[in-house]
Amino acid sequence: MSADYQPVEVCYYGTEMDNLRLKRHVKIICTLGPASQSAEVISNMLKTGMDIARLNLNYGTLEEHARTVSLVRRLSIELGLQTGIMLDCPGLKKYPSATVNAAFKKHLEFARSQNIDFVALSFISTAEQVAEVRRLLTAIDYSVPLIVKIEQAPALTESDLILDIADGIMVARGDLAIQISIEKVPLAQKRLIKAANQRGKPVITATQMLESMVESPQPTRAEAADIANAVLDGTDALMLSEESAVGKYPVAAVETMVRIALEAETAYPHDERLRDAYLTSLPEVNDATARAACQIADQVRAKAIVAFTAGGTTAMRVSKYRPIQPIIAVTPSEIVMRRLAMVWGVHAVQRTNPVSLEKVFDLAMEVAMGLGVVMKGDRLVLTAGVPLMVAGSTNLVKVHVV
Ligand code: PEP
Repeated sequence: MSADYQPVEVCYYGTEMDNLRLKRHVKIICTLGPASQSAEVISNMLKTGMDIARLNLNYGTLEEHARTVSLVRRLSIELGLQTGIMLDCPGLKKYPSATVNAAFKKHLEFARSQNIDFVALSFISTAEQVAEVRRLLTAIDYSVPLIVKIEQAPALTESDLILDIADGIMVARGDLAIQISIEKVPLAQKRLIKAANQRGKPVITATQMLESMVESPQPTRAEAADIANAVLDGTDALMLSEESAVGKYPVAAVETMVRIALEAETAYPHDERLRDAYLTSLPEVNDATARAACQIADQVRAKAIVAFTAGGTTAMRVSKYRPIQPIIAVTPSEIVMRRLAMVWGVHAVQRTNPVSLEKVFDLAMEVAMGLGVVMKGDRLVLTAGVPLMVAGSTNLVKVHVV
């Protein structure tokens, strides 16, 4: 690498709302509650940056949550956004003496009835309990990503095994602090984020990120530093809890989180992450393709990486290498599109399968230009698979000049 090497400057040509989203890599999850039930507040939270709405089944009735699900879906369609919905199931937190099956079944059936995008599991202690939930999901014929909340001391001890079986984790700092004592939480957070990053699985950092904004329109300096540190630790997503569920300033909390995250990302060590991730690269074609795409994009100063992804894995693999460029995931599946809402740096769009490689290249250009991430003369890097759009077939990297 030459001594005067400078990372690519990515610029955007779309609408202000699109540009702010495309510029930000880290995702924002907002817990909805009494302070964020109205269409007006939810709509403003979506416009400001909410990527995923979290509904906490520890509170409210299933009827109320079903209404919120349909409201979020309607508003995000109206705004042209791909908002994910996460149901947080209290399970063993609410029913400590129940079996895993009895604790989660009703809520998992509700999640299935609502076609929910992510399910978060509370008070899990072991990987075997996650496996039990998976068996339960198979029995009710429901395939959904499982986000395991790490908040019990045994779960922290078993976090590597849990990460192997979960689709993602949440550093649930509220209960974790009670379980392991508060001074151990910051290092646990760093360790969990690193372990999830190494596996290319999403990790959420949660609880009290902007706690003072429950009552105040301004955050504290310490909260700003906490958010910036979580971003630089490598979290995929930041979560608002009481701030957006019961606070006085739910929209301002989202706006504040976006601002702090964007500023922190100006110091994100993209090239260092790309280099270090080599150590955890997998002997798999899609992982190798994803790494090559990020390296080429960096070297040729591409403005975007377009990943054709049937099941979402390729986009997740590209995200693992943490490129500065936006990762535009093109998928035929609406479900995959919404699931990618949690993944760092990924912006998903739904398009029908292109029928030839020529059409793949045309579609990549059309989508990237439509989003305003490239202009005539810019380079983009695309990844796809031949045969076209078969999950797990990614094997091609191409540099395209718009
Ligand atoms: C936590 O404990 O940090 C957490 C996110 O869980 P809950 O919101 O269910 O308390």
